[in-house]
Amino acid sequence: MTQSDSQVDVLIVGAGPAGLMLALWLSRLGINTRIVDKRTDKVFSGQADGFQVRTLEILDSFGIGERVWKEANHMIEVSFWNPDENGVIRRNNTAPDNVSGLSRFTESVLHQGRMESFFLDAIAASHPHPSGSSAVKVERMVLPTSLSIDEAAADDDDAYPVTVTLRHLTEEEATPTQRLSNLSDGLFRSNLAGDDVGDMLERSKAREGVHEETVKAKFVVGCDGAHSWTRKALGPDFEMQGEMTDYIWGVLDIVPITDFPDVRNRSMIHSASNGSLMIIPRENKLVRLYIQLTEVSVDGGRIDRSKITPEIIFNAARKIISPYKLDYHYCDWWTAYQIGQRVGNHFSKVDRVFLAGDAVHTHSPKAGQGMNVSMQDAYNLGWKLGLVCKKVMQRSILSTYELERKQIADELIAFDHKFSRLFSGRPAKDILDETGVSMEEFSKAFEMSHMFTSGIGVDYSPSALVSKPREAHQLLNEDKAADLKSDQDKPSNGVDSILDLAKNCKPGMRFPSFQVVAQAGARPWQLHHKMPSDGRFRIVVFAGDILSAPRRDLVNALGAWLAEHVLARAPKMDLSPGADPHAGTMRFKTDAAPSAVDVLLLHNSKRLEVEILRDLHETYHPFDSKLGWDYDKVFVDEESYHNGHGEAFKGYGVDPGKGAVVVVRPDGYVGLVSSLEEDGWKAVETWFERVLKMS
Ligand code: FAD
Repeated sequence: MTQSDSQVDVLIVGAGPAGLMLALWLSRLGINTRIVDKRTDKVFSGQADGFQVRTLEILDSFGIGERVWKEANHMIEVSFWNPDENGVIRRNNTAPDNVSGLSRFTESVLHQGRMESFFLDAIAASHPHPSGSSAVKVERMVLPTSLSIDEAAADDDDAYPVTVTLRHLTEEEATPTQRLSNLSDGLFRSNLAGDDVGDMLERSKAREGVHEETVKAKFVVGCDGAHSWTRKALGPDFEMQGEMTDYIWGVLDIVPITDFPDVRNRSMIHSASNGSLMIIPRENKLVRLYIQLTEVSVDGGRIDRSKITPEIIFNAARKIISPYKLDYHYCDWWTAYQIGQRVGNHFSKVDRVFLAGDAVHTHSPKAGQGMNVSMQDAYNLGWKLGLVCKKVMQRSILSTYELERKQIADELIAFDHKFSRLFSGRPAKDILDETGVSMEEFSKAFEMSHMFTSGIGVDYSPSALVSKPREAHQLLNEDKAADLKSDQDKPSNGVDSILDLAKNCKPGMRFPSFQVVAQAGARPWQLHHKMPSDGRFRIVVFAGDILSAPRRDLVNALGAWLAEHVLARAPKMDLSPGADPHAGTMRFKTDAAPSAVDVLLLHNSKRLEVEILRDLHETYHPFDSKLGWDYDKVFVDEESYHNGHGEAFKGYGVDPGKGAVVVVRPDGYVGLVSSLEEDGWKAVETWFERVLKMS
């Protein structure tokens, strides 16, 4: 055996959707990162396929949303098919697949492997970073074999307290036997397959010259899926809580030959007595069928996998869809899995080792959540780890990862529990049939679930990062806070309710996007496009009419105040080339690294009567000796030449007569809403003092 030692800031175990999202964040932030995976290659077909709208917004903030959006099938309509009084399936309802107005995107489907390719391209494009860190590359056929934490050093910012041993495998050792026989068979990744880590180790044992490496890391993140080795390595205190159901589900990706009219809609079919089928129309004429398998039972917790074949799954689908005909020539991929609804009791150990994705939550794939929630775990964690490694942010903020993401995982399992029961249950024959599922209840639950399944409903709990109205009032005016009691949203002592200032910017929820027009150049932009995932916080100043002298004076006084109290005190941060996907790839050397806090201004005066340099404080158009003034920070809410009016003030729920100041975290969630008036400014400074390492 050969042995080597190395050191890294962040070691990621597992290069599925969660691991790749994390690697992309960290490479954008220039963090010294390694990502290892036991497999020989990425996913090529099948597996997860549903992209929820919040995920698309996140991918767009890294510049890869467009690629998914272009190739994916957009799901617009959903149909509900139920048995009529003669037991024959009939369409008895249709609905939009997404509530309109939630986002500029709609739910879309594309297979996981394609998305993994986009991640790999984007990770490769993030380098070289000005900090000089080397490119992040997925290291495949690498298996961790031991993990320990020096807890005494956990509070030392400069320490590398986590030690992991990595074993480098050969291709043969790392390939599951079943994978070699049939490429379209996805059972080897299903939860019906056992964990193959033991087999891999066994196979590598006999080989001479096995290479083992001891890695010292500041942080380790287990993104290693449902059988998570990392979770097990953290000891018996780390357990998955919840239950494994007896339902076995089959999945088939085929190009169907059928007379079923809604084959290009998302369709939920409940048959009278043959079970339920969900149809997902996919890219490239593919269609995914999800079927509950009644032929395969869970016998004493054990399933005979040899009994599960594509034919069994297909025949079950045929029965459910009858009297319509169903056939196929081409099968792209198939698998089967058992539904478990479980959440890890801890998401981190001493905020040095973290778990993300399927490693800490598993549930049914029917609501298309797993990959999305997994990526969103990593999206929540990535910037926090990155900014702590860069010494920009307080290390204590890392504890918000478990606070925020465990809450979402718990909500997901509760949702899945309800949705699975409704989906898998037998349709009720009539209102007296209490054991059957009411189809009205099912379609209502589906419609109600949009906010949650789209990812837009995420509402993080209060913390240093999220000032809910009560705390915002406290920051705003300490002596008036006593009057607020538990009634958080009510105005008190003449202080406007914080929620009323920006009704649709709720602390803890994602900052929405509306079209605005660039003051310079008149180009219409989605405001999200001016907030790329580059690790910076944003202060959005809803300025209102800056042609009115008192308002202009107030906005400029705020600009001067922010420059002194926030921008000058906040740490500086190098930005990676390509960090702003909408600014082109050319990078010029700036005078100094920009502040970790960026300021954007939205007004509603007549654009042609405003001049940025003449009318606005330099905070809104910072100067660089090599690049000149930045004309890219001031926007107006007005009709564009060719794309209509974005109605942004209305969309954000801000009264232009009052204005507002909104602090947005690097992951696009609202941290604080405050007043544009002078008594609101201090709250902004205090918020940043709690979060950043301010000078
Ligand atoms: P994984 O995707 O499981 O990735 C884990 C990675 O870690 C793998 O690459 C693995 O090789 C590696 N690894 C594991 N153990 C080790 C180890 N010891 N050492 C090194 N590397 C290791 N989700 C959706 O959002 N939408 C859907 O439509 C959807 N459909 C699905 C359909 C099916 C049939 C299935 C099975 C799942 C579906 N899911 C869906 C769920 C989704 O696939 C998972 O939730 C998602 O892949 C989880 O991502 P992850 O990165 O956490 O874990």
